[in-house]
Amino acid sequence: MQAERSEQLFALAQTVMPGGVSSPVRAFRAVGGTPRFIARGKGAYLYDVDGNRYIDYVGSWGALILGHAHPAVVRALREAIRRGTSFGAPTEAELALALRIREAFPSIEKIRFVNSGTEATMSALRVARAATGRSKILQFEGAYHGHADFLLARAGSGLATFGLPASAGVPSAWVQDTLVAPYNDLEAVAALFERFPDQIAAVIVEPVAGNMGVVPPKPGFLEGLRDLTRRHGALLVFDEVITGFRVGPGGAQGLYEIKPDLTCLGKIIGGGLPIGAYGGRADLMDLVAPVGPVYQAGTLSGNPLSMAAGRATLEQLTPVLYQQLEERAAQLAEGLRAAAEEAGVPVRIHRVGSMLSVFFTEAEVVDFATASATDRARYARFFHAMLTRGVYLPPSPLEAWFVSAAHTDDHIARTLRAAREAFREVA
Ligand code: PLP
Repeated sequence: MQAERSEQLFALAQTVMPGGVSSPVRAFRAVGGTPRFIARGKGAYLYDVDGNRYIDYVGSWGALILGHAHPAVVRALREAIRRGTSFGAPTEAELALALRIREAFPSIEKIRFVNSGTEATMSALRVARAATGRSKILQFEGAYHGHADFLLARAGSGLATFGLPASAGVPSAWVQDTLVAPYNDLEAVAALFERFPDQIAAVIVEPVAGNMGVVPPKPGFLEGLRDLTRRHGALLVFDEVITGFRVGPGGAQGLYEIKPDLTCLGKIIGGGLPIGAYGGRADLMDLVAPVGPVYQAGTLSGNPLSMAAGRATLEQLTPVLYQQLEERAAQLAEGLRAAAEEAGVPVRIHRVGSMLSVFFTEAEVVDFATASATDRARYARFFHAMLTRGVYLPPSPLEAWFVSAAHTDDHIARTLRAAREAFREVA
């Protein structure tokens, strides 16, 4: 496989952008090699600048549930762009998207659009702190809620810990109110509530973890969080930036039937354009300016292009489409399991709806520690074996694979043929 042009561009890009990229994981550091520079995408395919074609399972990190350049989305964008790109004023399009989301998420009585998932979580937690008059936030190790300072915290030592900065440039004071517990560990959460009575404003959780690879909640985990937060006067914030409209029409909260106080959305609701949103109980959202004292604003928030792409995308998400996604993703996961077994490669495959992960391990994966302990070097070899065969997987073992509506039975079959060879290569 030729990658000469990508290599040249990457060399030049590194002289002008840190790591040659606009977001770190794109640089292939976790798997090595040269990131492919992408020229275009259509349906299930990515095409790089060297003329290679790949079946894409990244889907712009989960945003493209319909695949690349879906005709309905392209049409909606064309129509919207003719009318102007941004007005900094209310539009019918943003109202329509807000109503559509509220219909799908009964917990969201009111919503505010922002430009990224990072802004969504940052703003939702500002509301939670204002509503409770408390300052501590509890998050889970290995979760990713965007790059706001106070959420770039990692676990310190000991069972119940204060966060430590997970990035240079984040003063320890910024994360001293961020508590970190292992995912799927209700006892650790309960212990933190005991240790910090009346101090925790909110628990923020990816209801299906998607940033340590896909790690589903253990039965009772989300229910336990709902119960503990209620009992201790804290808010429950679901970060559904990945899972919203992904694992089902009502997100993970619909799937598991849990009602959070606040929800963060992004990715799919923007149809591939920049977006984020946060929403929830009306009494909480009415704390946001101009109604209430919590300040949050945005020049391009609710811009007509993101609204148009989002609306066009959500319009396509019928029950039949979710059924199709479920079947294709199940076919892929089952096929991968069989292929790995045939090659004698131990794997754990996790799938919730159309998001999945292949962990190279025999051991159970339930949290960040166990996800990190998997054979990541083997994933890197598998990644390249697949890339060479025209399948584009996430360039990190700790990221989710996404099946889109553009993936056909034929794409899945061809992916599995490549996987059978790739597993043998890494055996
Ligand atoms: N929350 C989750 C669960 C995410 O996966 C991400 C990004 O991948 C974010 C928040 C941040 O979103 P954005 O990259 O749009 O800032």
